[in-house]
Amino acid sequence: MHQSIGIESMKFFQDSQQNNFFDNHEIKNAYDVVIIGGGVHGLSLAHYLAKLGITDVLVLDQGYIGGGASARTTAILRANYYTPEAIPFFRESLKLYETLSSELELNLLFNQIGRLDIGHSESAIYGLQTRADFNRLLNVESYMVGPNEISELVPAMDLRENKLYPVMAALYHPTAGVIRHDAVVWGYARSAKRMGVHIVPFTKVIDLIVCRNRVSGIKTINKEVSAKIVVNATAGWASTIANMANIKLPITTHPLQVAVTEPLKPFLDTTVSSANFHVYAYQTDRGEVVIGGGVDAYPSYSMRSSLSSIHHLVSNTLKMFPMLRDVRLLRQWSGLCDMTPDYAPIIGRVNGIDGFLLTCGWGSWGFKAAPMAGKSVAELIFTGKTPELIKPFRLSRFSTGKILNERASAPAAAVH
Ligand SMILES: Cc1cc2nc3c(=O)[nH]c(=O)nc-3n(C[C@H](O)[C@H](O)[C@H](O)COP(=O)(O)OP(=O)(O)OC[C@H]3O[C@@H](n4cnc5c(N)ncnc54)[C@H](O)[C@@H]3O)c2cc1C
Repeated sequence: MHQSIGIESMKFFQDSQQNNFFDNHEIKNAYDVVIIGGGVHGLSLAHYLAKLGITDVLVLDQGYIGGGASARTTAILRANYYTPEAIPFFRESLKLYETLSSELELNLLFNQIGRLDIGHSESAIYGLQTRADFNRLLNVESYMVGPNEISELVPAMDLRENKLYPVMAALYHPTAGVIRHDAVVWGYARSAKRMGVHIVPFTKVIDLIVCRNRVSGIKTINKEVSAKIVVNATAGWASTIANMANIKLPITTHPLQVAVTEPLKPFLDTTVSSANFHVYAYQTDRGEVVIGGGVDAYPSYSMRSSLSSIHHLVSNTLKMFPMLRDVRLLRQWSGLCDMTPDYAPIIGRVNGIDGFLLTCGWGSWGFKAAPMAGKSVAELIFTGKTPELIKPFRLSRFSTGKILNERASAPAAAVH
């Protein structure tokens, strides 16, 4: 198994070098579609556009390809959301991930190890039970389990009953998992490139070309490029691009900090999240324990790590796994998250502005969404019609009052 993965990866790197998809193309003066942002969302969109025959596409990134939040993600994939709008969308995205390795001809190491959302209070259990009910109605496998089943799934968890915040029950979602995030990004990039898309790193968009109520192209430091459609897929930077067309997005950018421990013998083979403690953890194939939580409280574009964050992550993880107390942390890092007030993304057209599409507001939960978002936005560009699945996520919901309150979005999903 490992040998075949090794050979496949070697072939992939040889192929990447021959295809040079990380090198600069000569940027043309005009494209059908320009995608700003070469993260998982921009590249997924490029792939699905090319599959529909739209290959006159340019993807630009100010840094290296996949170097934004897509490089910093913990890449947990799941579909057990809360609202009737988000559950079907994420359900379909998870299905696409299940066949993505064969679609991209690259082993993405998608490991469906499941997910336990632990509740430590009556109100948390009520929220998790509500999610279980909504998930069942919308065909997502996710159900409540008690301490006995939790102990079978995670023998290492501290299940003592007399402690503060005991483990009362959990929402279990067996089809959730973890994927190799860089492979997803490279796989989409290679596929799009093979079908004719131009992917250009280290090229910053410094302005949009706006004429009356239409975005008709982009400007880089040394070139103007016209486009029939410009897509803003810049996540943490989405509001800065929108500002160039005088659009104010209801997005604030917050850092999200995560960490990994030194490698340990395997003891945890599912992903675990605590609704009350706002932490989540899983063990990688290398044995490291990845620990994450909620975004920093204050908006910032800083990607520095902080002591207060690591204190929060570590102290709350130890409440579930006290046996980790002597384990050393290896690394801590952070990435930018484009947070919306209702924890749901913003996808589609902007009323009153032609030629400009958004796929942003992906916050701390957007990696799992990339296949379905890319496919849906590609369909919108191809047909001119917004697919049903993404209609609830349009920007205009903030002016019509139809906001979503998707409180199961956060990595340490809490509904209570
Ligand atoms: C620490 C962390 C953990 C996470 N964990 C999870 C998880 O477990 N599961 C999950 O589903 N999601 C998770 N997320 C969220 C997820 O990673 C993101 O929502 C997703 O990667 C966003 O992808 P993107 O392509 O929209 O943005 P990005 O990957 O950020 O790509 C946007 C790109 O736009 C480029 N750009 C910006 N401005 C310009 C410009 N002016 N010109 C040209 N290019 C520009 C940037 O360089 C960047 O590469 C996590 C995020 C972080 C930070």
